[in-house]
Amino acid sequence: MSTTAPPLTAAEVDDLADRFESRTAEHVLAWAAERFGERAVLTCSWQKQSSVLVHMVSQVAPGMRVVELDTGILFPETYETREKLIERYPVQFERVLPELTLDEQAAKHGERLWERDPDACCGIRKVAPLRQVLDGSDAWITGIRREQSTTRQSSRKIELDDRRGVVKVQPLADWTSRDVWRYIWRHGIPYNLLHDHGYPSIGCIPCTTPVDGSAPDERAGRWQGTGKVECGLHGN
Ligand code: SF4
Repeated sequence: MSTTAPPLTAAEVDDLADRFESRTAEHVLAWAAERFGERAVLTCSWQKQSSVLVHMVSQVAPGMRVVELDTGILFPETYETREKLIERYPVQFERVLPELTLDEQAAKHGERLWERDPDACCGIRKVAPLRQVLDGSDAWITGIRREQSTTRQSSRKIELDDRRGVVKVQPLADWTSRDVWRYIWRHGIPYNLLHDHGYPSIGCIPCTTPVDGSAPDERAGRWQGTGKVECGLHGN
């Protein structure tokens, strides 16, 4: 894990979060590109927020790194979304893989680790690769929205991630799901078609299930029945 000091102090980040609360997502993203340059990185999971942010990066921050943490066990529709987006938008795209392939993970930790110890599986396939990406970065741009779940309700547009020594920038923090769809439709942006089939939130195949309209929040179909709500990338 990075031990680098964050590039801004907690007081500076608080002040920026207050000032940016009423600013548009484009303004926040453009500020991050200007302030952090090549040390800012957007991570994408190819859900609807990624569609918005890749489009927006191409408009207001075209040189920004766009990184996929590819667990190797994502839905075909998710990989198709990636292909459509990077074909359409000339962004600086990188794909980061876990240290272990799925076969190597099975040999070392046993088959279907996600069923027995999802935290360990996410640690190998998501958290460690993210650490590798952020070790060379000062700012991490994410598609987190407050509306997604109770664990994300207090997210701000600018936060300090003390654990990783980076500033987290969340331009869509105050966007509703309706805002996201309105933006996608207005600009004709490719999106993950699983969203049309009962998947408001999409992760790895074994840990994502469709939900009906009465689900308590958008992320109700992730790790359903396990009590796990986050993969370890977000939250302290
Ligand atoms: S979401 Fe599931 S399969 Fe994907 S890394 Fe986490 S535990 Fe493993």
